Amino acid sequence: MHWAFVGASTIAAQHMLNAVRRQPGHSVTWIVSNSPDRVQTWAAEHDIPNATTDLQQALTDASVGAVYISSTNEKHHAQAMAAIAAGKHVLCEKPLGMTQDEAVEMVRAAQDTGVTFGTNHHLRCSGSHRAVRELIASGRIGKVLSLRIHHAVHLPDNLQGWRINSADAGGGVIPDIVVHDADVTRFLLQEDPASVVAQMTSSGMGQGVEDSCMSVWTMPSGAMVMTHESFTHPFAGSGLEVHGTEGSIFAKGVMTQRPVGEIALVTEAGSEDVPFSDQDLYVQGVSDFVAAASGQGRPAADGPDGVKSLSVALSVREAAATGQRVNINYGG
Ligand code: NDP
Repeated sequence: MHWAFVGASTIAAQHMLNAVRRQPGHSVTWIVSNSPDRVQTWAAEHDIPNATTDLQQALTDASVGAVYISSTNEKHHAQAMAAIAAGKHVLCEKPLGMTQDEAVEMVRAAQDTGVTFGTNHHLRCSGSHRAVRELIASGRIGKVLSLRIHHAVHLPDNLQGWRINSADAGGGVIPDIVVHDADVTRFLLQEDPASVVAQMTSSGMGQGVEDSCMSVWTMPSGAMVMTHESFTHPFAGSGLEVHGTEGSIFAKGVMTQRPVGEIALVTEAGSEDVPFSDQDLYVQGVSDFVAAASGQGRPAADGPDGVKSLSVALSVREAAATGQRVNINYGG
């Protein structure tokens, strides 16, 4: 299948080109950008045959079967709607849109048109997260009491642009990282957060948008979830812990783009290391998407998953802005 990439972005260059090219028979034949200079440079650097600033030009190429969207967040909705209208399968970056209405409209349009729609939540594609989910699902820690997610990182210099200074482009740590933590929570616990309380701040990087956030979520089962996201923490490390009535899981260094980290399961019997597979997260995500597009299975994270992770993030921001507990509305 031929792909059009929309967005001359870092994530596309560092992970997604490779992820598509690793699928047998798949290639990236278009790059679409808003900048005439950047699009030409990007195409040359990454060996892509066609470059354009006109999305419709790529979409009218009948040989293009799928579109991957990794522009800044405020562009996702219009670009996805155009790709869906052209009958292309769409793999879209998180957050799907700036508002829940945008995200819902995209996902409904894909459903109505019959194209496959995926949300690029990479963490549920990692061997570590899949191993943690398996431990929980198989009952190794009994009833889940709580989940703590540590996702406070230091934003690399090359990404300190729109993320830290442009609310209009969808900047801020909440649309950037809370969406991932919402997806991880839903993936691991197999239920949707019901309500949130939260606080956010700017701790040295954010200019008009928050760069740090802490929140507590209630789950329908009664489990509690605590998450911490930041752009400003160079040495905090990342990880998650799941605590249950029969055991605890400590997954260290796993909130990352790479297949790294370590997992320990602690029960009455003691502590044991938990092995996990080391597949590339993005290759796995594209592989699941490609299979779904050919009628086998579903994307690792589909459209409704992307809507829900955005709903949680928007509720966290509302809770932090108002100081009130917010009951999450998933839009029916
Ligand atoms: P970048 O900042 O690298 O790129 C975003 C856009 O900025 C590009 O599409 C490009 O616009 C423009 N741009 C790129 N380089 C320059 C430059 N030198 N000067 C001016 N403009 C430039 O974004 P990311 O790759 O970090 O993120 C893109 C999307 O992917 C976001 O939605 C983000 O949330 C998501 N993302 C997802 C990840 C995941 O693991 N799922 C990880 C990282 C990001 P144009 O295309 O018009 O040229």
